[in-house]
Amino acid sequence: MSNPQINIVVPLYNEEDVFNNLTERFESLIEKISLSIEIIMVDDGSEDNTPELMREYSLNNENFTSVFLSRNFGHQMALTAGLSFVNASEAVLIIDGDLQDPPELLEEFYSYYKKGYDVVYAVREKRKESFIKRKSYNYFYRLLKKISYIDMPLDTGDFSLISRRIVDQLNKMPEESRFIRGMRSWLGFKQIGIPYERQERYSGESKYTFKKLLSLAFNGIFNFSEYPVKIMTRIGLITVIISMTYLLYVIYMRLFYDTVPSGFTALLVVIVLMGGFQLIAMGLIGEYILRIFFQVKNRPLFIVKDVIRKQT
Ligand code: UDP
Ligand code: MG
Repeated sequence: MSNPQINIVVPLYNEEDVFNNLTERFESLIEKISLSIEIIMVDDGSEDNTPELMREYSLNNENFTSVFLSRNFGHQMALTAGLSFVNASEAVLIIDGDLQDPPELLEEFYSYYKKGYDVVYAVREKRKESFIKRKSYNYFYRLLKKISYIDMPLDTGDFSLISRRIVDQLNKMPEESRFIRGMRSWLGFKQIGIPYERQERYSGESKYTFKKLLSLAFNGIFNFSEYPVKIMTRIGLITVIISMTYLLYVIYMRLFYDTVPSGFTALLVVIVLMGGFQLIAMGLIGEYILRIFFQVKNRPLFIVKDVIRKQT
């Protein structure tokens, strides 16, 4: 196949229940749209039948390339791996494999690409997910926007159409802890958000465990904000000011009224509180140090085990 106009990169981790519907949706999109498309599916070390399904599909269909990672590297790394296989001449659609993001939006996204936008990202206007999940996402994105040193759009995930030059830039970024939606914003160029309604997952459970989700949120914060360190300095300063004021008050009382404060409990509370603050502060610094530690190892970001595409 000569270079397609569009690549669609889709990471898959234990998605055997969705696979057939996913490929069907892609097939009908390819039929309908007047663009040449190659789909790059990335198996992120699935333990179910997903790799087999992918293998078979790619062997029989030249529009579908399958990339297999050597183990589960996580969604962001699977995307990164997919992006490294891009050969599209124009743009790349990044999409989840569970059909929460409708592939059909490609047509609308592409029209914005044609108008000169390098990044067309989807903004989740409505979410069909649990109350707690919706609220946490909501607060997280608002917090991140507030504290981030880049202009981070609200309620957007990785679902987007990005131009070839954006992909090339992303591929050049060696960051070990990846928060792709942030890196995409950081790059600049002309970007636009298109509202859409995020569907429920077509089938199966979310493959983002709580731990993985938390780690993604932390990557967003610690990679795109210096606020955690600054807030500790501020808390420290406030504490010093309060305790100095109190010290002056104690000296004053001792000199003029000859009274000294008593209170073992208060003392204990203050000591424990300060100990807690200090540990939190060290933990926050530790987050940055950990990121330096893993970055300087300079390991490859992911390991590709196998690539399958139909020989033509
Ligand atoms: N995914 C992945 N590796 C993982 C977890 C998830 O490649 O370790 C894929 C998953 O198959 C899906 C996409 O990332 O295509 C988004 O995951 P999911 O839908 O489970 O997350 P949610 O939508 O619940 O945030
Ligand atoms: Mg999902």
